Amino acid sequence: MAATKIAIVGVGKIVRDQHVPALAGNTAFELAATASPHSKLDGVDNYTSLDDLLAARPEVEAIAICTPPQVRHSLARAALLAGKHVLLEKPPGATVSEVESLRDLANAQGLCLYATWHSRHGPAVAAAKAWVDAHAVAKVEIVWREDVRRWHPGQAWIWEAGGLGVFDPGINALSIATLILPPFFITGCDLSFPANRQAPIAAKLDFRLEDAESMTADFDWRQEGPQTWDILIEAKDGARLRLSNGGAELEIDGVPVAQGPVREYAAIYDHFADLIATETSDVDVRPLVQAADAFLLGRRLEVEPFHD
Ligand code: NAP
Repeated sequence: MAATKIAIVGVGKIVRDQHVPALAGNTAFELAATASPHSKLDGVDNYTSLDDLLAARPEVEAIAICTPPQVRHSLARAALLAGKHVLLEKPPGATVSEVESLRDLANAQGLCLYATWHSRHGPAVAAAKAWVDAHAVAKVEIVWREDVRRWHPGQAWIWEAGGLGVFDPGINALSIATLILPPFFITGCDLSFPANRQAPIAAKLDFRLEDAESMTADFDWRQEGPQTWDILIEAKDGARLRLSNGGAELEIDGVPVAQGPVREYAAIYDHFADLIATETSDVDVRPLVQAADAFLLGRRLEVEPFHD
């Protein structure tokens, strides 16, 4: 079968780190062009806007939107209206309603919309889900603590309204939790906003999950040194699971369980190819709903200003 011609919108850190190598290794796609206000990729045609790209390159069949979330909806809508399949980087939008409206539009257009959650493709996530399915959950502790200066250097959008702040990484934990755990919902939340920013630098969340004793999450962007992306689950029979390194590593009852290599973005493009071939969409808004609920219910605490 001929490779699907794909264009990337928003050429930033994640495109260079992950999308370009993943596409280079996938024969189902041919990277045809980009659209980004300032940045360019070598070896393909680069346009400064999606409108210019759509006008100049009608043969492009699919668009990967990798911009900050605040501008995603209008770009995705334009791509769908132009008859293109659309892949959305996480989070799929700035609001839940705009993502739902894109899902409806894709269905009406007979096109594929794929809201990606890269952490769900961590090599240990499927095994963690199988373990949870076989146990009654007593306790869940999510600890997602990283250094914002290391992972988001100079990114202004992330501190603006709609940029999600520490929920930008935290939503990765929520994407795994909503996939592997029974349904849960937020009962309380403290959001720490730097005095000079519009988005939180830390969040502490309490959840209710069926008849479990407790479920908590601790998101923090101020962790220097070793980084922590862990989900710890205790079962009612005393069994314990630790999913760590963002879904890459697994320990059951303290014993490491060997996992395959990390290939989150390769798996994303494999899945996108399948969705296009089967003319289906994959849009799960549950992680974004959890983040939105945290902002609805969160108590605002002011903490010291943040400077890059
Ligand atoms: P980034 O480095 O700031 O890149 C975003 C790019 O979007 C910018 O380079 C900018 O292009 C472009 N852009 C802004 N407005 C645009 C518009 N209206 N039309 C077209 N392009 C536009 O951010 P990033 O780290 O790559 O993150 C992008 C998304 O990927 C976020 O949703 C983030 O959550 C997700 N993500 C990031 C990581 C990570 O490690 N950084 C990991 C997984 C997922 P110009 O440079 O041309 O102005």
